[in-house]
Amino acid sequence: MDIKTSENKIKSVLTTKGIIETKYIINAAGLHVDEISDMINAREYTIHPKKGSTIIFDKNISDLIKHNISIVNFPREEHYKGGGAITTLDGNIQWGPTILENYDKNDTSVSVNEIDKIFKSYSPIFDYFPKNSIINYFSGLRACTFTEDFIIKPSNKIEGFIHVAGIQSPGLTAAPAIAEMVIGILENIGVKLEKKPDFNPFNDKKKIFRYLNYEEKNEIIKKNPDYGEIICRCEQITKGEVIDAINSPISALNMDSIKRRTRVGMGRCQGGFCLPNIVKNIIEETGLKGEDILKNDEGSNLFIGKSKCLINDKK
Ligand SMILES: Cc1cc2nc3c(=O)[nH]c(=O)nc-3n(C[C@H](O)[C@H](O)[C@H](O)COP(=O)(O)OP(=O)(O)OC[C@H]3O[C@@H](n4cnc5c(N)ncnc54)[C@H](O)[C@@H]3O)c2cc1C
Repeated sequence: MDIKTSENKIKSVLTTKGIIETKYIINAAGLHVDEISDMINAREYTIHPKKGSTIIFDKNISDLIKHNISIVNFPREEHYKGGGAITTLDGNIQWGPTILENYDKNDTSVSVNEIDKIFKSYSPIFDYFPKNSIINYFSGLRACTFTEDFIIKPSNKIEGFIHVAGIQSPGLTAAPAIAEMVIGILENIGVKLEKKPDFNPFNDKKKIFRYLNYEEKNEIIKKNPDYGEIICRCEQITKGEVIDAINSPISALNMDSIKRRTRVGMGRCQGGFCLPNIVKNIIEETGLKGEDILKNDEGSNLFIGKSKCLINDKK
């Protein structure tokens, strides 16, 4: 929310959960890096968002593409690094993303023009591509600066303030290398870094229930019968997986977080069938009221009052 400095040095950060005293801040706030820098007059760039829209197809046409296809148009759109007809790891085909200047940092709408543009770009490659197999479309905003490159450096103005700005595409791919650069910067400005002797960099790969064989599935269902109940028919996700996500150490308590953990609602019906059941699970596991359950952020309440699907909700 705010930053306090004294004699051009970082002193503390004011957050919604209180004040944190610190000598160092790594400003990696994506679209909002310039606003964060403004808090202490340390701005050295301006973010101009570029929107990228994408359409996702149903898995029932996944056989239409065997390889990822990228189209290179000449002349290329300036500073545009990607785009294509892509098969995702889960088997959906994805077309896009586009690139469009978009000055509103909150606008992630997808216009008809963008969808038409995607179709014009990719449909010539395929003899037949059913439009009615589109199950959803999304857009995201790239956090571009006018130098169109990453800005990873200590501030010229405030000691202890590190810029990680302009992390547009391919920022995700570059993230591990960016982290190493930031570690180097911290060392250079005098932070004493010590390796944790017990740090384990390996994370055991979690077994995904739907990919197990019958014997393995039965073994799990015997221990927890909730794994024998399919809650999302399109993606074959079980009630057990949803409840585990709700009760995990970092609880998934809204629709989108449960969706990202488990894939519920990512199939053909886009949650039309499973959403009420997931809401019921959240109510049963947490005691939250139906009206308080969110799609994602504050204000995105799924219900404005009692709903038919929550008729058995006594709370
Ligand atoms: C359409 C599209 C396609 C892309 N394709 C690719 C690709 O193919 N390959 C690739 O490598 N990259 C791709 N990227 C880019 C990649 O997604 C970004 O580079 C990456 O996500 C940037 O990560 P980040 O951590 O810097 O910023 P972000 O992921 O934006 O994270 C910033 C975080 O800061 C938080 N924040 C901001 N302000 C505050 C505040 N005041 N207080 C608390 N928190 C705050 C935000 O909520 C957010 O969680 C794509 C991006 C888009 C939009």
